[in-house]
Amino acid sequence: MFKMFSCKDISKATCHSDDLNLAEKLNYKMHLLICGNCRKYAHGIEVIGEKFTEVLKKKRNISSEKITQLENRILESIKKNNESE
Ligand SMILES: [Zn+2]
Repeated sequence: MFKMFSCKDISKATCHSDDLNLAEKLNYKMHLLICGNCRKYAHGIEVIGEKFTEVLKKKRNISSEKITQLENRILESIKKNNESE
């Protein structure tokens, strides 16, 4: 049965977009079409993801613990941005 992703699902799925199956990817895109907040959120993650990958390429010896910390900090700042608007 088709069930539309909720905003909460989107925030989870954005971090694992490579793991989504075809139906889920469609679902995801449909939600972004109708939901401006998630569109903004997903775009933010995308931009950060690209920058993040660049940093990782440059600094291969960075510890995974530090990466997780950085990731959490970025996610927190996105959440704050979304709340203040
Ligand atoms: Zn949404």
